[in-house]
Amino acid sequence: MTSQPSGIPPRQRPRSLSGMQPTSDSLHIGNYVGALVNWVELQDSYDAFYFIADLHALTVPTDPEVLRRRTRVTAAQFIAGGVDPERSAVFCQSHLPQHAELGWVMNCLTAMGEAERMTQFKDKVAKGQSANVGLFTYPMLMAADILGYDADRVPVGEDQRQHLEITRDLAQRFNQRYGETLVVPEAHILKETAKIMELSDPGSKMSGTNSPDAGVVLLSDDPKRIVKKIKSAVTDAEREIRYDPEHKPGVSNLLVIESALTGVPVDSLEQGYAGRGYGDLKTQVADAVVSAVEPFQRRMRELLDDPAELDRILAAGAAKAGPISAATLARVKDRLGLLPPG
Ligand code: ATP
Ligand code: MG
Repeated sequence: MTSQPSGIPPRQRPRSLSGMQPTSDSLHIGNYVGALVNWVELQDSYDAFYFIADLHALTVPTDPEVLRRRTRVTAAQFIAGGVDPERSAVFCQSHLPQHAELGWVMNCLTAMGEAERMTQFKDKVAKGQSANVGLFTYPMLMAADILGYDADRVPVGEDQRQHLEITRDLAQRFNQRYGETLVVPEAHILKETAKIMELSDPGSKMSGTNSPDAGVVLLSDDPKRIVKKIKSAVTDAEREIRYDPEHKPGVSNLLVIESALTGVPVDSLEQGYAGRGYGDLKTQVADAVVSAVEPFQRRMRELLDDPAELDRILAAGAAKAGPISAATLARVKDRLGLLPPG
């Protein structure tokens, strides 16, 4: 467990925290094996905080009705994927104003040059996403999300590594300037599954916002559609099924997905595929994905059929999480020299 700076109230257990944006009609298989599976695992030994990053989603202009629908879908998918709202706080970022408020403090702590070095911003703009100031300051809001909960561990995919680094830098900087106040968090990134690639272009990260439909397996996709997408996945001109991300990114990506969903290590899968062709690989991967997704979709539909219950879960999650980030924000404001109200 991360050592607790003197300014941090004592805690029973270490804390895990993460979020996902409601920026598409469903989470994808990369979000699932890269992050959600680890969220679920950490619930056993951590006090966990898992939120729908709806403020971050505003960096992509979206129709309000669509955003509302996607927010509920994302919450339902967290739970269908195994997040237990009885144990973990499941909530909407926008329900707790302390995220945005602490985000402002983080903006004022960040140097322009530091923000300009963030590769995710540069990649998204290069891919044609129109950039607003919110997209530019996304990492600072993310730092606030994490630091507000004194989080020890942040389960995310590889694309978030640099954002975790800046979060740690900002926490350390704050502590140096104003005295021990914030917990310096650690990224929880599992090497094998941390970067699932597009099926149609295994050189690009599978993304909810930027990937073409054929490149992404959505957790809500109809099984027939999933099979079709996997069968059309780009591989290479060889025949051998072998894990080699540099020379065989498409095949390696499929092996990683199958391994993550079945629990069979990649080298055992390779042995099983000896002498067999890409057709067999694709059939087996499609079976693994469909088997994982079918029970997931049943649970998701049940949850979405009862939006009032879903909203109640989100309210309970905010009630559990809110006092914690409110206390951190109060501590931060005091350290900064902001006068208390009244
Ligand atoms: P966007 O492309 O709009 O940023 P996204 O698909 O990256 O969307 P996020 O909400 O930004 O989704 O990320 C949610 C979580 O899923 C993060 O922890 C992120 O690191 C992880 N993640 C996203 N894409 C992948 C991927 N292709 N492989 C593994 N993990 C991923
Ligand atoms: Mg992302």
